[in-house]
Amino acid sequence: MMLNIKDLHAKVEEKDILKGLSIEVKPGEVHAIMGPNGSGKSTMGNVLSGRPGYEATAGSVTFKGHDLLEMETEERAREGLFLAFQYPVEIPGVSNMEFLKAAVDAKRKHQGLDEISSVDFLKLARETCKRVNLDASFLKRGVNEGFSGGEKKRNEIMQMMLLEPDLCILDETDSGLDIDALQVVADGVNAMRDGKRSFLVVTHYQRLLDYIVPDYVHVLAGGRIVKSGDKSLALELEAKGYGWLENEVV
Ligand code: ADP
Ligand code: MG
Ligand code: MG
Repeated sequence: MMLNIKDLHAKVEEKDILKGLSIEVKPGEVHAIMGPNGSGKSTMGNVLSGRPGYEATAGSVTFKGHDLLEMETEERAREGLFLAFQYPVEIPGVSNMEFLKAAVDAKRKHQGLDEISSVDFLKLARETCKRVNLDASFLKRGVNEGFSGGEKKRNEIMQMMLLEPDLCILDETDSGLDIDALQVVADGVNAMRDGKRSFLVVTHYQRLLDYIVPDYVHVLAGGRIVKSGDKSLALELEAKGYGWLENEVV
């Protein structure tokens, strides 16, 4: 099992948000999480990544057999969990190149490997820029310095490609995402689907799932999964909205 979330409860600012969330993700699977605004989708991602302020109060989460909730945030990343909406704060004087290399080296160290040489990394980073259609000059820019929406997405997918995580969580909160940026995300995910790597794709938009075809679709409402199905559930939600699920039991 890649990820096993069992009866997870979590609170933010003393408010109970997740109220018995359970999901099982096997290696290679893509799960889409949909649901009304405020239902706890982003909270789920934040709890899984170990963001400070998001406190699990009951239930369990195992990631590749490890107790995820016992792991430090950095440890989760080194172990292969990737959260695509997590941004480094702007760090003066640190370029994207340096930031990305440090992230790659931290993972390599965890795997018992030496640091990647600057020459090799530059080559790899340039190739990856090309794959996500970012100009190579991006590598010299400061971390998070003036990103456009589309560049943010490209940067996220580039990070994902460089880090080669085992589990990728994408939270598509940006309602202003244009079709090009959507396509970058979808192409990136599809290029990285390999039968082993798993994805949790949080999205409001059925449209994204036309490009990233999920194995399962779950509806998160009121802090729990109220319905699960295959990709046809996303179409049903698009047509019917979420109201009809109010009285559903899993
Ligand atoms: P979704 O992503 O499904 O729209 P969220 O997880 O963002 O939902 O939010 C779920 C609930 O938790 C909302 O009521 C929101 O106001 C609250 N919440 C989330 N993060 C915070 C926070 N950092 N501080 C206070 N309340 C929060
Ligand atoms: Mg929201
Ligand atoms: Mg959200």
